[in-house]
Amino acid sequence: MSEPTQCVLIVPCSGIGKPFGTVSREAAYEVVEDLRPNQTHLVALSRLVMGDVEARTAVATCPAITLDGCKLACATKMVRECGGSVMRGFAVLDVYRRHRDLKPHGIARLNDGGLKLAHALATEVTAVVDSLVAPSCPAEIKGNSHV
Ligand code: SF4
Repeated sequence: MSEPTQCVLIVPCSGIGKPFGTVSREAAYEVVEDLRPNQTHLVALSRLVMGDVEARTAVATCPAITLDGCKLACATKMVRECGGSVMRGFAVLDVYRRHRDLKPHGIARLNDGGLKLAHALATEVTAVVDSLVAPSCPAEIKGNSHV
């Protein structure tokens, strides 16, 4: 049996201007800030796109879960382009298909359905984190949950 990993990167797509993209970011924040703050670490897609060395190094060395707002799957593609391992790629649309009553509206501020959809996605992501991760992140990245 393989050793559990110590920390999982959460990479949401940027999705600016699209409710489904906003859902991916809201879900990522919920996982990293509230649900599993000691086991996860958020990487902003924009930093990977801009070639940020710290973000790209993190992606190349730690397993990632990606959250994409549409079928273009920008987060998943970028993590792979950076040499990262996508342990699980979530598409917000797939989660919405399981929760048709939670249609997201709004961009800067999601409606109630969008927030609930983000929570549903965050819950699914957390289950994957729990299946992958050791009890806490390494000390050197503790206290800095965003890359
Ligand atoms: S996956 Fe879709 S919603 Fe997300 S950044 Fe790419 S094009 Fe935008």
